[in-house]
Amino acid sequence: MTRRQWLARVGGAVVIPSFLSSCRPDISRNVGAIGQRLSDAYRPVEKNGCVACDNCMPCPYGIDIPSNLIFVDRAADDGYLPAALDSPDFAEKGREFLARYENKIPDAAQTQKCIGCGECLGTCPVEIDIPEQMSVITALTDVLRDLRCQQL
Ligand code: SF4
Ligand code: SF4
Repeated sequence: MTRRQWLARVGGAVVIPSFLSSCRPDISRNVGAIGQRLSDAYRPVEKNGCVACDNCMPCPYGIDIPSNLIFVDRAADDGYLPAALDSPDFAEKGREFLARYENKIPDAAQTQKCIGCGECLGTCPVEIDIPEQMSVITALTDVLRDLRCQQL
């Protein structure tokens, strides 16, 4: 995602010099500087227990639901799932989480494409609230992308 796309989505300024067309890979440690809307939307992501049965697929909006959920569980198991915004290692874990997430899951299949249509509700045999999970993962990546853009 380019900085222009990011700012357009969060409702920020859209007039950006062309040399600032993409964000840098590092993220800021200044978590306190993120916007109020982003911090209000954020809740720590927790393990979900997806068993990758694909019963919820396909999502009509192209989200790869099981890949996103399994990515989160792997991040928790491997120690790079960020916790609360004020946790001391939030930025360090967040940098690794975002880099791996964007490398693993194509933009079109990421959780921010979820519109909450509810098509997936009731399809999960382990009773995951999929739209809710999409929402909390998106809130996390929104915060991390904001911190990355603060590096510019
Ligand atoms: S609620 Fe979100 S994840 Fe579920 S089917 Fe709709 S767009 Fe896809
Ligand atoms: S139906 Fe539930 S367990 Fe199966 S892939 Fe979808 S989210 Fe995972």
